[in-house]
Amino acid sequence: MNVGANTMTLAAHSLGFTIIPEGKCTFPVRVMNHLKPTAIVGSVFKLLRLARRMEEEGLDPQESSITKLIVGGESFAEESRRYLDEVWGVPCYNTYGSTEGTMCGECTERAGLHVPEDLVHMDVYDPKMQDFVSDGTQGRIVLTTLLPVGERTGNLLINYDTEDLTTVLTRDRCPCGRTHMRIDNPRREAETIYIADVPLNRVDIEKGVFQRENMEYLSGEYEAFVYFDPDAGKAFLRVSLETHDPEGCNQKLVKENFLEALFRERPALGRLHSEGYLEFVYHFPPEGDLELYRLKGRPKRLVDRR
Ligand SMILES: [Zn+2]
Repeated sequence: MNVGANTMTLAAHSLGFTIIPEGKCTFPVRVMNHLKPTAIVGSVFKLLRLARRMEEEGLDPQESSITKLIVGGESFAEESRRYLDEVWGVPCYNTYGSTEGTMCGECTERAGLHVPEDLVHMDVYDPKMQDFVSDGTQGRIVLTTLLPVGERTGNLLINYDTEDLTTVLTRDRCPCGRTHMRIDNPRREAETIYIADVPLNRVDIEKGVFQRENMEYLSGEYEAFVYFDPDAGKAFLRVSLETHDPEGCNQKLVKENFLEALFRERPALGRLHSEGYLEFVYHFPPEGDLELYRLKGRPKRLVDRR
């Protein structure tokens, strides 16, 4: 469902799976009833939206034929994955693919993504691209395609900078039996902005949104904008949190949970806030009212408007 997953499709074909291609994420819910798929590949938000549409049509996602979900296409907070598990009542597995490169995926252990080291060589560089970082330290993913003698490929990568960040978790054999090394959920460098030299990634915002208590009021859809007011000498982070019930939403609770989670992840932002440099502004629009719905293409959820 709307994920560029050609490698996954080819692999599934080789394994003999039946595939139902659903390019659009608005496919009719009757597909679920008539074809009884056992797994869906999609992004976290598309799968949450699908669950909501099914509920509206009287179909409980937890009672459906689905036994697992596979997410890909964008990085996400662990909190949003946990919520997705809960809504569907099945485990949800992460994947990582760069458009040009390869496909990494979680196994049933869900303890990092396996890198297919027989197909691709992954290096992790420091942000200035001068040296490798050691395992356990975050750096940029650099890929090189490995080809057996005589094989051909359409897209050959040699020291290709994906501009994605990750950490090598372990090179030990996984309890699932695989020997492929495991990496942390990659994040996109392009989704990181800096407020007074403090990095803020879209996923940090998402962590604050998907605090479990908040989900009693929120749909999970969000967007955030950073502004700077030169007269006040202050930066503003405006966060829009979509709610199913603007009147009944406990805004105070949501704000507190959001800030607490954000500052736990990025303590330096908390300092900027207590020093008075960074202010937060919240907006609780009803469903369908976020700016990102009016824009085409991949939704941008953290926008720098300074
Ligand atoms: Zn494994």
